[in-house]
Amino acid sequence: MKVLKFGGTSMGDEQTWQQVLQIIQRYPQPFVIVSATARTTRQLLAAAEQALNKINSAHKQAEKIHTHHVEIINNFLNNYPNAKPVIAKKCKSWIDKKIAELDNLLHDINKTQTLTLRQKDAIASIGEHLSSYLLAQCGSAAGLQTTWIDAAKIIRTDSDFGQASPDKEIINKKAGSVFDNLGNGTIPIMGGYYGKDKQGNITTLGFEGSDYSASLVGAALSADAIEIWTDVSGIYTCDPRVIDGARPIPQLSFQEATELAYFGAKVLHPSTTKPASQKQIPVRVKNIFDPEAPGTEITHQTVPNGNVKAITYKKDCSIITVTSSQTVMGYEFLSGVFDTLRLQHLPVDVVTTTEASVSIAIEHKNGLEQTVEQLKSLGDVKVETQNGIISLVGCRKDYSQSFIKNILAHLNNRPIKLFSYSRSKGNLNIVMHQDDIIPSVKLIHDHLFG
Ligand code: ADP
Ligand code: MG
Repeated sequence: MKVLKFGGTSMGDEQTWQQVLQIIQRYPQPFVIVSATARTTRQLLAAAEQALNKINSAHKQAEKIHTHHVEIINNFLNNYPNAKPVIAKKCKSWIDKKIAELDNLLHDINKTQTLTLRQKDAIASIGEHLSSYLLAQCGSAAGLQTTWIDAAKIIRTDSDFGQASPDKEIINKKAGSVFDNLGNGTIPIMGGYYGKDKQGNITTLGFEGSDYSASLVGAALSADAIEIWTDVSGIYTCDPRVIDGARPIPQLSFQEATELAYFGAKVLHPSTTKPASQKQIPVRVKNIFDPEAPGTEITHQTVPNGNVKAITYKKDCSIITVTSSQTVMGYEFLSGVFDTLRLQHLPVDVVTTTEASVSIAIEHKNGLEQTVEQLKSLGDVKVETQNGIISLVGCRKDYSQSFIKNILAHLNNRPIKLFSYSRSKGNLNIVMHQDDIIPSVKLIHDHLFG
């Protein structure tokens, strides 16, 4: 059994829904997980913000989401005139119901003048509630034996709204029992990204969390493979939308894929590989627009290619430099700095240290200002915003000085702010001003893969 996940771009309109259903049909009884339709999550979150002081705009946004889904359904079902009357009615009442729930949530936010993370999660999950139910209905209109599964029935998490952690033991049990109780050959279609906590509140697994849902379900059901279907033919040597010469990488190890995802390759959510690698389940990244293309296979194996595997980058990072005050001892100083970051759940991207100071590159996130204030108790704190990180992942382990020298030469004298190289992991990170990132990535990519 395979788990197939289709992202927002694959769920864009009725034509891509047809493509998704054709791919599903190629498998005996896959477990299907889908994201919200493209842009819907962003629109939902925008509506939540607007509800605080522009309630009319928020309701208009909800109406737009309503219209968009009705349109997809109508256009899709026009191809199935016999099934259309019954299925269209079912779909329409589901859309009405979910948008009414959304309007109620928006109304509450406006009334109380507060927007909690719990409310945000409930609102964000509506995108997947809509897409997964509607695709399951369209599947049956097209003659497939599909059934909708509410992710809240399987994905149990803690109550850390916005970035909830899954309870794997409960997920294993629930996924197993849902799958065992399906009719013979029935294909489950479930929304990714959201789950439910112990108290019954809707939670989400973090932005782009549908990949993670797929991996959790795949591990729970000991699937043969987890396939992430998207709009490009696998993981590339760099983002193909930014770098013309980027090409798909046939094979990556779990560790390499995780590093790439963590350092900005948005094709995969960074947590995706964890459940899969624990159960040794291969993850494949495939293209719905070119299903025959081999894509990328991610397994335990590290296959050296005599070069670097890929380059990735992220922008909107800050460099925080803390210089120890005389009163704090060296080891206390470092542990104090990292404890402060831990308490705010802020993951560190690049670190360099001297005896009395530490510089950290970190993605700009909520809570950073507060952290900076707290760090001031440890010493002098300097913050530089608008930086970015270039990461070279899967470097050959026997690279010599000339490798690093050549990479640096291709930065064309653009200033480096921080630099780290791990020979054991084969990773090289360069922190620069964010305006220097893309031109540098282009030159390094050309040098390594051109
Ligand atoms: P989905 O909606 O299927 O989840 P995403 O937009 O999240 O799709 O991810 C696919 C996109 O990731 C691609 O269109 C591509 O622009 C981007 N991307 C960034 N880095 C890479 C990379 N190294 N390889 C492939 N795609 C990448
Ligand atoms: Mg994605």
